[in-house]
Amino acid sequence: MEVEGEILGLVILFLVVSAAFYFFIVRDSGDSEEVNLPDGSRNLSTTRAVNQTTGNATNGNNTTQNETAASMSFENIEELHWDHMPLAYRIVNNASRCEGAPIAEMKKAFEIVSKASSYKVNFTESVGNETADVNVSCVNRLELLKELKEKEVCKNVVLDYRSVQFSGYEVLADGDYVTSINIVSRNDSTNTYKVCYVRKSGVSFDWDPLDEASIKVKGGIISSARKTIYTLDSKYPSCIGFPAKEVHDVMHILGFAHTETPVFDDYYGWFFKDLRYFKDVMFPYSYCAYITELNDNYAECLKYIYSNGEIGIGCASVKFVG
Ligand SMILES: [Zn+2]
Repeated sequence: MEVEGEILGLVILFLVVSAAFYFFIVRDSGDSEEVNLPDGSRNLSTTRAVNQTTGNATNGNNTTQNETAASMSFENIEELHWDHMPLAYRIVNNASRCEGAPIAEMKKAFEIVSKASSYKVNFTESVGNETADVNVSCVNRLELLKELKEKEVCKNVVLDYRSVQFSGYEVLADGDYVTSINIVSRNDSTNTYKVCYVRKSGVSFDWDPLDEASIKVKGGIISSARKTIYTLDSKYPSCIGFPAKEVHDVMHILGFAHTETPVFDDYYGWFFKDLRYFKDVMFPYSYCAYITELNDNYAECLKYIYSNGEIGIGCASVKFVG
């Protein structure tokens, strides 16, 4: 049977991954029972309206370009793109509460993506009354979750003890938002998780602050974007070393969609043979242990798009929203 054939590989994987799990995920969360959470939503909708109400700056919904942005030519490009660089971002919504690691990790992600694109893509912090292309909204996640407490439902999920890569979303439907995940018990054969979540539909709540990054597209061009970062006291874990989640969301801001996901077995979890999926920065669940760089295919695609096809291999192996 396929499963039995993979046991040896899984045992080795478990030893490596379990160490990584403790050091990269659990330790980083500041809460020994909390594991890494992925995106708030699994599918980024192409034209979902950007909610501007969370911003308190002068960043309207118009497409006025940053004065310093160079207008660029894209006649050779069919892929979804912005029409200028650099992209101006602004930290909005009580930015001071995200000072320190949350903002630093975000800026690190902007730099990683810029560098990988040979600086064809670049970001500047919006100053004064400049219009921002990207609103980075600072949110206290725990405060928002309190409002959802009574809508929350929980269930126990039992997985094979080797299945340490688990975010909760793997066993939920699209449209469910994970509010917490805790390990209830471990023994020689199983891990039992308590996954609590809220079904978004039918709940009157502004989900944007809890969702991942989103973009607004006008006439085939990305015209604005938003991204949420969480205050340090939100207890939202981030990855040590490489800011996997932030880089993932910067790629959403640039129009990239999630990769396809392999089969998640209800008991065995992910299969070792599908390891390559987890290493893709656009895998829907950002497992810190696996995402350690911006993959070359995205870097090449960004170079290609933002050089109007002059450099870079192209975008054959990546997915765009829409
Ligand atoms: Zn995502």
